[in-house]
Amino acid sequence: MTDKDQTNKNWSRRNFIQTAAMTAAALTIPGCSRKEKPVLTTLVGDFDPLRTYPYRGWEDFYRKIWTWDKVVRSTHSANCTGSCSWKVYVRNGVMVREEQAADYPRISQDLPDYNPRGCQKGGCFVEYVYSPQRLRYPLIRTGERGEGKWRRATWDEALTLVAGKLLDNIYNHGPDTNTFFSVIPAMSPVSFCAGSRLAHYIGGVFLSFYDWYCDLPPGEPLTWGVQTEACECADWFNSKYIVLWGSNISQTRIPDAHFAYEARYNGAKIVCISPDYNASATHADLYFQINPGTDGILALGVAKLLIDQNLIDVPYVKEQTDLPLLVLAGTKRFLRQSDLEPKGKEDVFYVWDAGQRRAVPTPGSMGSDQKTIQFNGVDPALTGSFTVTLADGKTAEVTTVFEMLKQELAQYTLDKVAARTGLPAHEIELFAKELGTRKPAMIIHGAGTNHWFHNDLINRSFILLVALTGNVGKNGGGFNHYVGQERIWPERGFFQLAFPEGRKKQRFQNTTLWSYVHSTSTDPHLYNGKPIEWYVQESVKNGWMPLWPKGGRKPRAFIVWRANYLNQAKGNEILESSLWRDLDLIVDINYRMDTTALYSDVVLPAASYYEKVDINSTDCHSYIHPFGKALDPLFESKTDWDLFHALADKMAELAAKKGLKPFHDDAFDWNRDFTQLARDWTGKGTIVTDEQAADFILANAVETKGMNYQQLQEKPHRFVATDPESWNSDIEDGIAYTPFKHQLEKKRPWRTLTGRQQFYIDHPWYLDLGEALPTFKEPVPEKYPLYWNTPHGRWSIHSTWRDHRAMLRLQRGGPIVYMHPDDARKRGLKDNDWVRIYNNVGQCVCRLQILPGEKPGRVTMYHGWEKYLGFQQGGWQSLTYIKIKPTQLIGKYGHVNFRLNYWGPTGNNRDIKVEIEKAKV
Ligand code: SF4
Repeated sequence: MTDKDQTNKNWSRRNFIQTAAMTAAALTIPGCSRKEKPVLTTLVGDFDPLRTYPYRGWEDFYRKIWTWDKVVRSTHSANCTGSCSWKVYVRNGVMVREEQAADYPRISQDLPDYNPRGCQKGGCFVEYVYSPQRLRYPLIRTGERGEGKWRRATWDEALTLVAGKLLDNIYNHGPDTNTFFSVIPAMSPVSFCAGSRLAHYIGGVFLSFYDWYCDLPPGEPLTWGVQTEACECADWFNSKYIVLWGSNISQTRIPDAHFAYEARYNGAKIVCISPDYNASATHADLYFQINPGTDGILALGVAKLLIDQNLIDVPYVKEQTDLPLLVLAGTKRFLRQSDLEPKGKEDVFYVWDAGQRRAVPTPGSMGSDQKTIQFNGVDPALTGSFTVTLADGKTAEVTTVFEMLKQELAQYTLDKVAARTGLPAHEIELFAKELGTRKPAMIIHGAGTNHWFHNDLINRSFILLVALTGNVGKNGGGFNHYVGQERIWPERGFFQLAFPEGRKKQRFQNTTLWSYVHSTSTDPHLYNGKPIEWYVQESVKNGWMPLWPKGGRKPRAFIVWRANYLNQAKGNEILESSLWRDLDLIVDINYRMDTTALYSDVVLPAASYYEKVDINSTDCHSYIHPFGKALDPLFESKTDWDLFHALADKMAELAAKKGLKPFHDDAFDWNRDFTQLARDWTGKGTIVTDEQAADFILANAVETKGMNYQQLQEKPHRFVATDPESWNSDIEDGIAYTPFKHQLEKKRPWRTLTGRQQFYIDHPWYLDLGEALPTFKEPVPEKYPLYWNTPHGRWSIHSTWRDHRAMLRLQRGGPIVYMHPDDARKRGLKDNDWVRIYNNVGQCVCRLQILPGEKPGRVTMYHGWEKYLGFQQGGWQSLTYIKIKPTQLIGKYGHVNFRLNYWGPTGNNRDIKVEIEKAKV
C-alpha cells in the first residue's frame, strides 16, 4: 500500500465516521424533521456511488418481505404431536411466511408457559405450499403403479371413476371390500371426518392407525383400561425425577423439551435411558447407554430393588393396584365370586383381610355394586398364602398377586440385570434408590422402547415402577407416553361427526391384522410351538378381532387421505407385491406426491394445512386452536371436506342415473339408499361447510362448550372441562392436566376388570405364554448381527418434510445410516461410503455416516425417507416385516376388547436385524 493509498483510506474512513455521526445526530436531535433531512440522503452522503443510478426501488425489497395484507392463524397436521399455533402472512395473494403465534394463555405463574411454540419444520411449511412436490390437478395413472406416468384429469372424470368403482364393489362384491385409511383425528378432525362419514354411510371398512404405527402402548389398555393417558407437558415442570426412557425429547418433542430442562433448574434430576448418546442425553444427570431391547429387564430389576429395599408406597399399592388380590395357587386364576358361591359373578374379586383373617370382596371391580375402590375397614394383606373354601366345599390355597410378583422378580438379580443391560450395578442401585425417594417421579416414554415386539411387557414393567412408588395420579408423576398425536380432546363431538349413526354401525379393522392376512406376509417364528396363523384364526373365530372382508374375500378399493400408508408399512415390498397387486383401485388424497400417491391409480389434490378450516389438539397441552384459510385452496385442490362432499354427490348422482335400488347391509340391518348419500353425508344439509363441521365438533363436546371456530381464530382456548365418560381427571384452573386423579383422589374405579391398576392378566393365552405378570422376554431372535433402528428424526415428521429443500440442507441431503466407528472399522467402511444394508427380507443401498454416539451392534436410519429420495435400491421398510404378537390378539376379557386404535396387535419394528457391507454402485 502506498502513502497515497493510506491517506485516501484514512480520509475515507474519517469522512465515513463523520457522516455516520452526523446522521445519528440528525436522527436523534429533536426538531430535525425527516422532511429537512431525508434519511437515506444523509446516510450515504456525497460519495453514494449509486446516486445517479436510475432505479432505487430495490432498496425496499428486504423491507417488503416483512409487509403483508392479512394474517391467518393455522397449524400443521403431520402427526408431530406439537399442535403449535402459527400465524400465516399473506401479501398480494401469496403466502409469504409463517411465525409462531405465541399467545397461548398461561396456566399459572408457577409454571413455564407454552410460548413460543413451534419447530423448524413448521417454520418452513409455506415452501411446501408452492413446492414442485405440490399436487395441482387430479391425476389418473397411465403407466405401471409407481412408474410415475400420469395424465391430468378433470375433477368430474376422476370422481366418476372413483364413485363408480365404489358402487360397483358394494353391489357386486360387498361393502366390506371398500377400505378407508386415514390417521390421527386430533390433528385435523374435520378432514378425518370427511372421509370417515363417507365410509360410514357406504358400509366401508375403516382401518386403525395408532396400533399399526406401533404408537399405541398396549400396556396402557392392559393395565389401566385406557388407550393412552399422559400429562400435558407443562406438568413435567412439577416433577422432581424425570426418566427419559426411549424418548429423545430434544429431537422429537421440540416445542416441549424446555419443560423438562426447566424442571431441572427447578430441582429435578433427569435420567436418560437410550442405546445412543443422543441430544437429550446431554441434559441428563444420569445416562444409561443400555443394550438394545433390554429395557424390560432393567425395569424389573429396579422393581425388585424397590421391593427389597422397602422403597414402595404400601398404602398406595394396597388401594390403587391389583397386587393384594387373591389368586388360586392351582389354576393361577384370580379368586372370583363364582369360585366361592354357586351363582357367584365372574367379575368380583377378593383380598385377604389381615384383620378378619378371611377373604373379602374388593369394591370397584366390573361386577361390584360399589363404585369406589376404597376399602372400608379392611386391611388387605400384600403377602402370604391362605386357604379358602370353594363353592363345592373343597378347600384351595390362594396367594396374592404381590407374592407372585416377588417370586417372578426374584430372578432379576442386580448382577444379572447389570450383565444383560451392560450397565454398572452401582448405577442401577442409585437409579432405584432415587426413583423410590424423589417424589414426584415420572417416566417420559417414547417409541424407542414402544416399538419392540414385547412392547406390552415393557410398558407393564415401566408402569409397575411408577405404581409401586405411588406416582400415578399425581402432578409431576406417572408413566407418560407421547408417540403420535392420538388423543382427541373434544371426543364426543368428534365421534358424532365421524360416525353419525354410532360406532356400533361401523366396520372397524385393526390394520396390522388386515395387512398381514391380505398379503403374502409370513412370520417364521413359533409361539409356544404354534405359528401365528393359528392364533389369528382362533382370535377371529372367537370374535376377539374382526377381519374384513369376511369369508376369505379380498379388499378391492383402498382410499387413503392424511396418511402415507405405503411408506410406513412394515414389510413394504411384501405388501406392494401382494396386497397392493390385488387391489383394483387405489386412491390417494394428498397435497404432495408421496410414496403412496406415486403407487396409486388416482391422485386427488388436497388443500394444504394453510388452505383449510379445521381444528387441532394434542395430549402435549390442554388447548385447542384452528387451521385457517390463508388462501382458498390453490390450483385445483379441494379441502378434504369439500372433496368428500363432491364424492358423495357423485355417488348419489351415479346411483340415481343407474337406478340403483337401496342396498340392504345385513351386518347392521341398514337399508342404504345411495341416491340420498349427499343428503346423509351433509346431515340433511346442516353441515355443508368445513367451518360448520368444526363448529359441530366444538358444540357437541363438553371440553369445548361455548367455543366456536371464529373464537379460536382469535386465540388458542384452554379446554373448559373433561368428559367423565372418557377422561380420568378434571381440567383445573391454574393446574397442569395429569391423568388418574379421579382414581387417586375420588377413589373412582380404574377402567379395568378388577377396577384397579391391573398387573395380573389371567387370560388363558397370557397364562400359557407366561405373560400373566410383567416379565422380561428377549427380543425376537434374528440371525443378523446389527439391530435395525428406525426412530423419529429431527428434520422430518415421518415422511413429511423429508423432501423439503430447507430440511435436506440441515443434513446430508439423502438417506443415511448411522454406525459406530468400531462396527464400521470391522467392515472396512468409511464415512460417506455407499453401503448395502440387507437381511433375509430385503435390502437397501444408501450412504453411511459414522457416529461415535451410536451403540455398537446397532445401526440407525431416521425413518420416513420416501423410496425415491436418494436410495440406490430399496427403502427403509424393505428390511422389515409384520410380526403379530399372539397376546395382542385376545378379546372379551373384561376391559381387553378390540376397539379401533385402543386394542389390537401393534405393527412393531424394532426386533429386526441386518448386516451391512460396502455397496457396488
Ligand atoms: S410441525 Fe408440529 S411441532 Fe413443528 S411447528 Fe408444526 S405443529 Fe409444531
